[in-house]
Amino acid sequence: TFRILHSSKDLALSLVDMAQYVGFIDDTLAVIGQTRAVHDAPGAPALACTGGRIAFRGVGFGYGHGHGRRALRRVDLVVPACQKVGIVGPSGAGKSTLIHLLQRLHDVTEGEILIDGQPIAGVTQDSLRAALAVVPQEISLLHRSVMDNIRFARPSATEAEVQAAARAAHCDHFIQALPEGYDTIVGERGAKLSGGQRQRIGIARAFLKDAPIIIFDEATSALDTESEVAVHRALTRLLRDRTVVAVAHRLSTLADFDRILVVDEGRIVEDGTPAELRRRDGAFARMWRLQADGLANDDVVGAA
Ligand code: ADP
Ligand code: MG
Repeated sequence: TFRILHSSKDLALSLVDMAQYVGFIDDTLAVIGQTRAVHDAPGAPALACTGGRIAFRGVGFGYGHGHGRRALRRVDLVVPACQKVGIVGPSGAGKSTLIHLLQRLHDVTEGEILIDGQPIAGVTQDSLRAALAVVPQEISLLHRSVMDNIRFARPSATEAEVQAAARAAHCDHFIQALPEGYDTIVGERGAKLSGGQRQRIGIARAFLKDAPIIIFDEATSALDTESEVAVHRALTRLLRDRTVVAVAHRLSTLADFDRILVVDEGRIVEDGTPAELRRRDGAFARMWRLQADGLANDDVVGAA
């Protein structure tokens, strides 16, 4: 890119290129989703993620200076490797905060979080990020090809690997049907994808990344029936043989989980298998009855 500019036309083209790169960087930051206030400790080793066991020890967290009201209070939690944990609870309960702390988007105010016995605050952020595949509520699409959008999760992936991930995520069919297949530009001003299609792109990214721990923040918006089925199948396959911490809103998602945590006012107030919590006649049992009574299948178990 260090070429000599021969004319004003070249200069104009370079400015267009540059504007596109700036756009790409902006988008990339939007995907990463935050400005980091955390730092690698000097000489921090890489996380050795052996199985994907997660532990919260007395974790407290408050936002802002002086840490205000606690968004999480004394959370103790052990998630064995390959367990699938669904987090439910009312809006503002602390569900997102819990999964953000696991990603170390913020440092905890009290206590510590460990992965396979190593405090996440003591390892490099790169190695922590590599151990986690995050499927966010809203999938950010870059204004680039579908191929690039999936490959974003692992830039060194070959086209064949991207296509295999797309097939695993039940994306291949709708991608093939786009005007230029995998070369179709999506994102702002690009081809519009439905909510369910975007979610499957997010799942394809996670397949491509192939991390031992999945963090999933389920969208609250209703999907069309076909997407609902495709997303559920793709997820079931993605979550197999990995540790999963998921903020879940749909009973159809929760039914496959080993364990449910009900969070309220920054604390875990119920913890058990879906069957146990249904018998217990607490908050989860009430949510379950509401959804089973045929109310809309979203936004009943918990809101964003
Ligand atoms: P949930 O995901 O269960 O809806 P959150 O984890 O987003 O809940 O929020 C927990 C609490 O922390 C709420 O009281 C919320 O208002 C507060 N909170 C969340 N994010 C921020 C933030 N960036 N700054 C200040 N307070 C926040
Ligand atoms: Mg939330």
